[in-house]
Amino acid sequence: MKNSIKIIIILLFCGAPSRAASRKIRVVATIPELVDITQRVGGDLVEVEGLARGTEDIHQVVMRPRFVTKLNKADAVVYLGLSIEHAFLPGLLDVSVNPKMRQDPVTQGCIGPGCIDCSEGLSVLEKPDTLSRAQGEIHPQGNPHYNVDPNEGPRIARVIAAGLSRIDPAHQSEYGKNLKTYLAELAPKIIEWRRWVRPLRGLKAVSFHKDVCYLGRFTGLDFIDTLEFKPGIAPTPTHLAALIQVMKAQSIKLIVREQQYDPKVCQWLADQTGAKVASIGTMANAFPGTETFVKFSERNLKNILDAVGPKP
Ligand SMILES: [Zn+2]
Repeated sequence: MKNSIKIIIILLFCGAPSRAASRKIRVVATIPELVDITQRVGGDLVEVEGLARGTEDIHQVVMRPRFVTKLNKADAVVYLGLSIEHAFLPGLLDVSVNPKMRQDPVTQGCIGPGCIDCSEGLSVLEKPDTLSRAQGEIHPQGNPHYNVDPNEGPRIARVIAAGLSRIDPAHQSEYGKNLKTYLAELAPKIIEWRRWVRPLRGLKAVSFHKDVCYLGRFTGLDFIDTLEFKPGIAPTPTHLAALIQVMKAQSIKLIVREQQYDPKVCQWLADQTGAKVASIGTMANAFPGTETFVKFSERNLKNILDAVGPKP
């Protein structure tokens, strides 16, 4: 009798099968806006944790031991893909040994059932014709910085909803419902932002890193060059001297500085050319109060518009 009471108590505290089945889906998202969108689409059914803080250079996020623990316990990993997380994701997948997110032995890409690659369905810009190291080394599959395009939010949310539904088909209708609610919030925002950026159409600009082609597509800004000599290769005096000549010749009055890059060299270039500097985040949470995709997109557009002149 005593033994059977013990068994009942153990079952109650350790959790019966029905309780185990209803536990939250554990998701790790590489960057803050993917944490935000996954949370919106997953609602109460998911528990989302992030890796990068949003203030780093995404190409240089440092792997931390707690990242391994998070990935080891996760049911899914949500990431931008196109190798943008090359500094940390392949290494983490390697050591976290989670069968739900296996690694392709050749490409080092995530190939398990828990892999949610948000570049799925993206029209990739700046795909190189040849894989030459001379082109710079960090965008080998085309430009991966699509998260700075406000118009990519709905597609990312759809990819995440499809991924969660695949992993947890019992709750597909809830994910679909949450997605619909989120898309209904985003749609009027995107219309409003398109109205904001009308004065930017056709305006020429330069950025520090080659991470603004999708932002250029949304805003109509024509990014003609970068301060970096090539993607991932620091500005050289010769390149900067040539850039000053181009900016002066074409009356380029806008420098977009991604907040993780050197403000001094951007201000120096502005002083040389009479241009204004606009700081943007390349991930959500780059600035305080921009932890969601909406706040992040909005702040970037406002900062550019403030530098150019007209305000939304
Ligand atoms: Zn890049």
